[in-house]
Amino acid sequence: MAEKYFVECDCGKRVRVALHEAGTDKACHSCHRSVRVPDTITLQESSGDKYPLLRPLEKVMVTLRKGEPPFDGLCHHCETRDANFLIPVRLHILVERFMKHDGGFRPTLHGGVKLVAAAAEEFWKEIHFPLLLCAECHKEFEADQSRASHKRAWELAGLFALLIAFLVFAFFFTVIIAMLSFFFWLLGAIAWAAQFRDRKKLKPYLISWLEDIRWVPEALAVEDEYNLDIDESIDLRRAIFIVDESESSPTSPVIWWQQQSESSYFEIP
Ligand SMILES: [Zn+2]
Ligand SMILES: [Zn+2]
Repeated sequence: MAEKYFVECDCGKRVRVALHEAGTDKACHSCHRSVRVPDTITLQESSGDKYPLLRPLEKVMVTLRKGEPPFDGLCHHCETRDANFLIPVRLHILVERFMKHDGGFRPTLHGGVKLVAAAAEEFWKEIHFPLLLCAECHKEFEADQSRASHKRAWELAGLFALLIAFLVFAFFFTVIIAMLSFFFWLLGAIAWAAQFRDRKKLKPYLISWLEDIRWVPEALAVEDEYNLDIDESIDLRRAIFIVDESESSPTSPVIWWQQQSESSYFEIP
């Protein structure tokens, strides 16, 4: 993923610029005034992160809590427009798994042996962060989402058709059924075994969207085992209304959401 560069406009918004635009003027997406892009060295220095010592996931949590980039309200996908939609991301990370005992054959009181399954105790941590999208990018996201769910529906329909075909076939050719049954059992067993290797669970179409959020790809890469899922999109234009109605000090919709969601945070000094 290419490094991203930003210049701050007088209106307080971030304006995304490219390295080759150094020394030129660029229009702010929000107030449309032109912003002077500094030289390449200044650009590179200003894109450096404020928390070089933190782990990627901690950087995500700190910037989210403070409402700093990448969670300052700019669309994560195009990074040229303000976000109108917030997609809550729930990330469950395996922190530790203790093995109580390994299982195996154990003697019983009656002089026999019994097989005992291995027992493990797991500790998971839940983290919430948002994917922020502008109205246009959100349309693209929804299209991606429905494509992915249609694909799954077709796969299930295909599997069902295969089962029907097999049953019809088995009705007429009972001799071959044993061989085929064994073959399908083998396939099932392989699929069942495969789930234990799949330790990073998330819907494939989400990967490219999450990669747009700074530090998130790095954060996911270092984790060994996790489940990731998303909730319904929140229309921020309505969320802003709720923020304005409340008596608490004015806050950004992202910070508002972050305060509402029950995350288990890292302790950050
Ligand atoms: Zn501006
Ligand atoms: Zn966008």
